[in-house]
Amino acid sequence: MSYTNKYDVIIIGGGTSGCSCAYNCSNLGLKTLLVEKNNFLGGLMTGGLVVPIMKSSATDLNCKYYNLLVKTAKKFNAQATYKDGNDGWFNPEVLKIVLEDILTTSKIKMNLDILFETNIISINKNNSLIENIILNSNLLSLPVESTYYVDATGSAEFSILAGCEILKENNIIQQNSLRFILDNVDFNKFELFLKSLDDDENITNTFRDDISNTLHFTTASTWNDNESWKLDKYLKLGVEEGLLIETDRSYFQIFSVAGTNNKVAFNCPRINNYKNNPFMASNELIEAKKAIWRIYNFVKKMFPGFENSQICNIATQTGIREQNRVKTKYYYTKDDLISGKKFKNSVLSANYGIDVHSQNKNCSMTQVKKNYELPIDTLISNDFDNLFIIGKAIGADFYAQSALRVQKSCMSMGEAIAKYIAQNKN
Ligand SMILES: Cc1cc2nc3c(=O)[nH]c(=O)nc-3n(C[C@H](O)[C@H](O)[C@H](O)COP(=O)(O)OP(=O)(O)OC[C@H]3O[C@@H](n4cnc5c(N)ncnc54)[C@H](O)[C@@H]3O)c2cc1C
Repeated sequence: MSYTNKYDVIIIGGGTSGCSCAYNCSNLGLKTLLVEKNNFLGGLMTGGLVVPIMKSSATDLNCKYYNLLVKTAKKFNAQATYKDGNDGWFNPEVLKIVLEDILTTSKIKMNLDILFETNIISINKNNSLIENIILNSNLLSLPVESTYYVDATGSAEFSILAGCEILKENNIIQQNSLRFILDNVDFNKFELFLKSLDDDENITNTFRDDISNTLHFTTASTWNDNESWKLDKYLKLGVEEGLLIETDRSYFQIFSVAGTNNKVAFNCPRINNYKNNPFMASNELIEAKKAIWRIYNFVKKMFPGFENSQICNIATQTGIREQNRVKTKYYYTKDDLISGKKFKNSVLSANYGIDVHSQNKNCSMTQVKKNYELPIDTLISNDFDNLFIIGKAIGADFYAQSALRVQKSCMSMGEAIAKYIAQNKN
């Protein structure tokens, strides 16, 4: 690998959107540096154990990288296609290997350097341009310079350090989650239990892949009164018996893990989001582990098939749905999204709904009726001419962000920005 300190593009954050951007930039011949603070790629998809992707529309705008990810994960037996056609059921642990495989093929490797366990120390600016940055890699100070910079940190860490304006249009916050995985679950036994509850409902269902005969399943329950969840009676019983506490009922969701016949991924417990108070936020992580222990003991006792299960993964990255959003050239709103407004330079076409994980009961997802688009200007910094923001920190309002943050859309953002940079590079 060649180490140079001058690049066409430096991407900070090797997560969901950053890996897509790095692949596409390198594939388009741009000399690219990908900087990641962990020792693996994938961000929330791997470290956050966020699987599967949420299904969103059938259009293929800027989905080349996503399709490659599906194809490559399949080769590693780390992908499944659910019966609704969602081909984004991944194995989060194996995905770490899959992502490196994609980013180290000979064509990509020629143009791409990856730095793991590296962070940003400082950013040197000149008026509306970012000139160079200093990285910290294992206490080594590393000055690097680029024509363009992409903030793919998900938290806007790079943009904040650069001094960009952060959107503060309301004080609404949504809950975080700390996801985990249980091993050694008897899928066949659990399938019978789920089928006895409810054979053909949308949420609580099982699916046997005709070709491989592999079983996949998902089920969920929330404490919302306006929906009837088949598992609710068990969760209520769990509270009555002292296995769970009331807030554990707020959101319970599980998915079988692709490529396994015994692992189940949990999209819970939810935890409070103290984005401006690191002490409270840290305490919530302790509470989250207590909740994982309660939920684990609850499923072991209440759900046939979980009797011999074991905790095998607890997310190393907290599941933060929304943290900071950066002011960009076009402020994208909920109205743009719901009305399906069209844009000339659209980054994506999607239909995943507004999905705020509220602390309160009876708040559910808003379905969108038309596909929506997102203009490239929502990814272009308002403060710096050579800075772009991709992923969950883009310049959309709180509600629009809750739809746009799904993984497939984040990957499309990375792909669109790579094309934009390649086109505009002088
Ligand atoms: C609990 C939860 C459940 C979700 N469920 C789903 C779901 O079921 N399906 C779905 O499609 N979407 C889901 N989402 C949304 C989706 O997973 C995220 O919005 C998306 O993955 C965010 O991608 P990103 O690229 O913005 O950030 P990330 O994937 O988090 O990537 C950011 C990367 O930047 C790195 N980084 C951060 N700061 C620095 C720094 N200073 N220096 C170097 N590297 C840095 C991080 O380590 C990370 O690798 C969920 C989100 C959460 C939180």
